[in-house]
Amino acid sequence: AFDTLMIGGGPAGAAAAVYAARKGIRTGVAAERFGGQVLDTLAIENLISVPQTEGPRLAAALEEHVKEYDVDIMNLQRAVELVPGEAGGEHEVRFESGARLKSRTLVLATGARWREMKVPGEAEYRNKGVAYCPHCDGPLFKGKRVAVIGGGNSGVEAAIDLAGIVGEVTLIEFMDELRADEVLQRKLASLPNVEIIKGARTTEVNGDGNRVTGLSYEERASGELRELALEGVFVQIGLVPNTEWLKDSPIELSSRGEIVVDERGMTSVPGIFAAGDVTTVPYKQIVIAMGEGSKAALGAFDHLIRH
Ligand code: FAD
Repeated sequence: AFDTLMIGGGPAGAAAAVYAARKGIRTGVAAERFGGQVLDTLAIENLISVPQTEGPRLAAALEEHVKEYDVDIMNLQRAVELVPGEAGGEHEVRFESGARLKSRTLVLATGARWREMKVPGEAEYRNKGVAYCPHCDGPLFKGKRVAVIGGGNSGVEAAIDLAGIVGEVTLIEFMDELRADEVLQRKLASLPNVEIIKGARTTEVNGDGNRVTGLSYEERASGELRELALEGVFVQIGLVPNTEWLKDSPIELSSRGEIVVDERGMTSVPGIFAAGDVTTVPYKQIVIAMGEGSKAALGAFDHLIRH
């Protein structure tokens, strides 16, 4: 059994593992895919003190850093159930493989995934014009034309953010009205380089084989197909936390399915902590996930020395 077991091996889980192992406690990491979303990222330019790196390189560095310590890394293990310990007892995590692991404390760091449009060209041009994170990739489109797909809060925030960096922004919303807060909509409408197209269903991301060159959409009222010439497409139709496996557990989730944590990263169940994109902590970024993972591990250690 472990003192601390991380579920998830992205930036949050890796940081938690390093912090826990440095306390000399029995530490494990079980992850479906060590590296997490970082593996799907190309250029990373906002990990402070590392001006430029690439996803696979950072994922390898995360693993290398964890392996400096006595940490049990169990890769390709998908957690399917959490059984909290009774009255301060060990918590158990069950995996798809049939394996079961016990630990006195847990750090849940299973991350999140961007909801995709699932239209032709989207996967093909991912990182070649198709992007999901304006904080990460906005500066790559300086002076260019981009579309933002989605008129909820995240889409409208992304369009406002991007309008200050790129040349032109076209916001595309499926419904006939934007769903973002009124104050954001007013701000958006005041910007000179933003166009809003409502009632439009994106049908395809177009490209020349190397990069995005445009976007096709159907005007839903008329059924007519139209095309926009542009260099970037930011998909903002939702970030889904990987908490399906916790649905039957007593861990409190927000209405969006994110794990609710306190200021030390503890969940509603004592001894079970959470960190990174899977939690309610806003602004889903690598450097934030690392900080939150470190904090959750320290929280877990603090819990151990008191129980
Ligand atoms: P994740 O990285 O999502 O890791 C989750 C871990 O949990 C993985 O190991 C996963 O396999 C595992 N897991 C999931 N479900 C289970 C389960 N049931 N059982 C066991 N393990 C499970 N951020 C930046 O700061 N800068 C950038 O430039 C940047 N670019 C990005 C580009 C792309 C294309 C994407 C998708 C994201 C980008 N991000 C960027 C966001 C950043 O990757 C995330 O904020 C960060 O990875 C979150 O870390 P995490 O550890 O919380 O979760």
